[in-house]
Amino acid sequence: MALATSTSHLIDRLPRPRGRLTADAALGPQTWFRAGGPAEVLFRPADVEDLASFMAGLPPDVPVTVLGVSSNILVRDGGVKGVVVRLMRGFTGISVEGNEVVAGAGALDLNVALSARDHALAGLEFLSGIPGTIGGALRMNAGAYEGDLAQVLLAAEAVDRAGKVHTVPTAAMGYRYRHSDAPSDWIFTSARLRGTPGDQLAIARRIAEIDTARTDSQPRSRTGGSTFVNPPGRRAWELIDEAGCRGLRIGEAQVSEKHCNFLINLGEATATDIEALGEQVRRRVLEKTGVQLEWEIRRIGEPAGRE
Ligand SMILES: Cc1cc2nc3c(=O)[nH]c(=O)nc-3n(C[C@H](O)[C@H](O)[C@H](O)COP(=O)(O)OP(=O)(O)OC[C@H]3O[C@@H](n4cnc5c(N)ncnc54)[C@H](O)[C@@H]3O)c2cc1C
Repeated sequence: MALATSTSHLIDRLPRPRGRLTADAALGPQTWFRAGGPAEVLFRPADVEDLASFMAGLPPDVPVTVLGVSSNILVRDGGVKGVVVRLMRGFTGISVEGNEVVAGAGALDLNVALSARDHALAGLEFLSGIPGTIGGALRMNAGAYEGDLAQVLLAAEAVDRAGKVHTVPTAAMGYRYRHSDAPSDWIFTSARLRGTPGDQLAIARRIAEIDTARTDSQPRSRTGGSTFVNPPGRRAWELIDEAGCRGLRIGEAQVSEKHCNFLINLGEATATDIEALGEQVRRRVLEKTGVQLEWEIRRIGEPAGRE
């Protein structure tokens, strides 16, 4: 499904990077929900310099969206206009320097936790339970089991819309619960994280406990993680349960029976089905409890039929 409206395509107006540019690239299969439309152009930079020079040469009117592995994203069925950046090969390296772990923004959180374990560094075990990348974790202040990125981050590196590279300390990230005040145009490229020397067996045991707890309590496929933010003093899943939404369905989109703050794609759900289900849950929770739930999952792109 082409997003271009005239004979010329956006890709023809873009700088030529060393990395890969793809027109009308399917995004749905790359997302955890396995739903959603294409990117007008998908850009996979070769390295930080390639990303920076591409951004510097990008026409100012072209929108830019960055994605990790889309474990907290719903891409609408009409696709995403402009350039979608994905940091893959060239951004997945992980190295350990003393008690510090330096990870590319494309590295999976799990792999960072496992590298820390291999070097007997404690404090990063919580990352093993989060199915995203370091880039997504930097943006969302990802966290679990009493840990979050704000507690272990020493510095982050980012490229801005003009192609300037920034290295910033944690204090400059403006972190709070699942949120950063860092400029929205920043594309994070790496993070320097603090570990603490620990017992390797105990670290491995903690990672295994987290894995078991996750498998027991959450769906592990075709979902976007927690759908709604916990409102102050309440848990979103309890409100959803109270409103009778556990198991609720629209098409093949369903409120998970296992954890009702998770929406799941049973097979062929569209992003439209999934978003409509989320909105129905919000309406029912508001009617039943008076609480307005706010989306935690980021919804991006154009509705179906508007591409
Ligand atoms: C089963 C399941 C369990 C989950 N459990 C947890 C949990 O316990 N705790 C938790 O915090 N989250 C959890 N999540 C949500 C999700 O994994 C995290 O939010 C994760 O940090 C998202 O990373 P990602 O790479 O998938 O980012 P995406 O989902 O691709 O993107 C999320 C946001 O980050 C931005 N982003 C991604 N990469 C970059 C970058 N390089 N630079 C700038 N911005 C970027 C995107 O633009 C978007 O706004 C869960 C999700 C699932 C599916």
